[in-house]
Amino acid sequence: VPGRIYEVNAAPMPGGGAVAVLHDITRVEEVERTQRDFVANVSHELRTPLTSITGYVETLLDHETLSPVAREFLSTILKNATRMNRLTEDLLVMARVESASQELHPAPVAASVLVQDAVKAMSGLVAESSSGVDIEIGEVTSMQVYADVDAVMQVLGNLIENAVKYGLSRGDVRSRVIVSCHEVQEPIEGVEFRVRDFGQGIAYEHLNRIFERFYRVDKTRSRESGGTGLGLAIARHIVQSQGGAIRAESKMNVGSTFLFTLPKALYPVS
Ligand code: ADP
Repeated sequence: VPGRIYEVNAAPMPGGGAVAVLHDITRVEEVERTQRDFVANVSHELRTPLTSITGYVETLLDHETLSPVAREFLSTILKNATRMNRLTEDLLVMARVESASQELHPAPVAASVLVQDAVKAMSGLVAESSSGVDIEIGEVTSMQVYADVDAVMQVLGNLIENAVKYGLSRGDVRSRVIVSCHEVQEPIEGVEFRVRDFGQGIAYEHLNRIFERFYRVDKTRSRESGGTGLGLAIARHIVQSQGGAIRAESKMNVGSTFLFTLPKALYPVS
């Protein structure tokens, strides 16, 4: 029926022919869209009051005459307002990437350039926070992928940020994060990007679930480090909407590797 959305499942029949089952998912799609719009609108509306709270609290904290108790309370308000800010920003990004309206502008781009740019951007952040992590570039391919540069930067940024955040708890060993990319034929012909850390690792039962929205292995730790539980859900959405796949491999107390693929550019630019 025109204007309605269907999900199609088809299978060949023994002896020839095929059977196709159509599910009308128009209503499901509508409900999901309403939910997405609602989340996006609420997040957007929360931005202004939150900016105001943060601004006023910061101004108050500049006063030297504050009592220690007042200073402590204001610092707590600031910490929580900052956390809410991050959450609303992540919810907005999530709503944007999940809605069909998100415009991707894919173009041929060298995978190695994506890796270099992401590492450069993230190294700056790490240097600022002086967290003692070296972000290194490993093996890279010269192949070009067909992808939206900003979206891939967001994925690599999320993965590197996680590797830095969760890769630190190994005593006095200075942590390393290695970002690399190489050609693959499976599951698609293209490039596989890898972000490897030598941190605490992720137990097997959590490995697939961490890509779900708001799923966090250790809630307290993640919250303390400023996590919202949305980073990997956003990353998965971006990768899948460009025809790739994302997964994680990990060994407890050895480290984790996050891997995602992007399709090869069929008409590379020189
Ligand atoms: P968060 O904002 O909590 O970091 P993410 O969606 O980015 O949210 O990650 C979900 C959870 O997956 C994290 O809370 C953490 O428990 C786990 N995780 C992600 N990356 C790593 C990593 N490199 N090492 C160990 N655990 C990780």
